[in-house]
Amino acid sequence: MSIPEQLPADIVSCIIEQATSDEPSLSKLVRLSHINSVFAESCRSVVSTRVRSVIRAFMDDGVIDSLFETLENVHGFIGGSVALAVIEPGFFIDHPPRDIDIMTPSGTMTEWVAWCDSHGFVDRETGEVNPDREDSTKSILWVRMHNGTELKIHQSQSSSALLTLLSSNLTSQMNAISPFRIYCFYPWMTVNGISISCQGSPTTYDIDQLERRSIEYYWSTCLWNGPCGRGCPMIWHLSYGLEGVGTYEWSRRAHLSYDIFAETHLRWGIGDDCYNVHCPYRVQEID
Ligand SMILES: [Zn+2]
Repeated sequence: MSIPEQLPADIVSCIIEQATSDEPSLSKLVRLSHINSVFAESCRSVVSTRVRSVIRAFMDDGVIDSLFETLENVHGFIGGSVALAVIEPGFFIDHPPRDIDIMTPSGTMTEWVAWCDSHGFVDRETGEVNPDREDSTKSILWVRMHNGTELKIHQSQSSSALLTLLSSNLTSQMNAISPFRIYCFYPWMTVNGISISCQGSPTTYDIDQLERRSIEYYWSTCLWNGPCGRGCPMIWHLSYGLEGVGTYEWSRRAHLSYDIFAETHLRWGIGDDCYNVHCPYRVQEID
């Protein structure tokens, strides 16, 4: 059955609402947006509303606008549980994100301090960078917002904020919302609620958060019943071109800007050796 292009926008938005009520995953909206241009526009409007509603738990609309302006100026993005909550809201129904993580390039912290000052967010302190993340993260600024929630600004060691994100402890943390696009670096695993430990091990707090949100946690892929796929620690990925990365243009202005993250040349992987017997890339044991 083909759906006529001229189906009115209000009918389309009812169809989308119905189709996503049980399955709110961004991947479902992406599939619906491929039907035709009316669906594409309606899905984008749903995602754009969702982005703002998740962030609204931390700040009001005027502050959200200036947050995205600053992110655009410095080439930063939102990561952490807020990004995952936009991609997979189902995990967060009973346990909404508790803080908001901003990733920013090296040398852009002064812009964030000015942004905090302009909104009266003066209750802030410099946090300690976890030793196993010192290669990727230069500093962390903790900001207590007016409603008691927290904002964490992670300054990358590189001119790309992606370095900090791609050095995350868990694959489920490798998601981002830029002022134009949403990125999911491990789409298959994320959609299926699976998270694997990366180079820097997750903390007990991280693992507890995954359990509360019913995300399956694996220390490694070695006991999987099938090949590791994209989660194989033997496979290194290159950010250039964002091959294998799920991306979605949530802003109507996305087409006006080229994708700066697709232009970066960062290499990342999630481990060293693969011992999964079902995986073609496993380490071959020598007798
Ligand atoms: Zn493998």
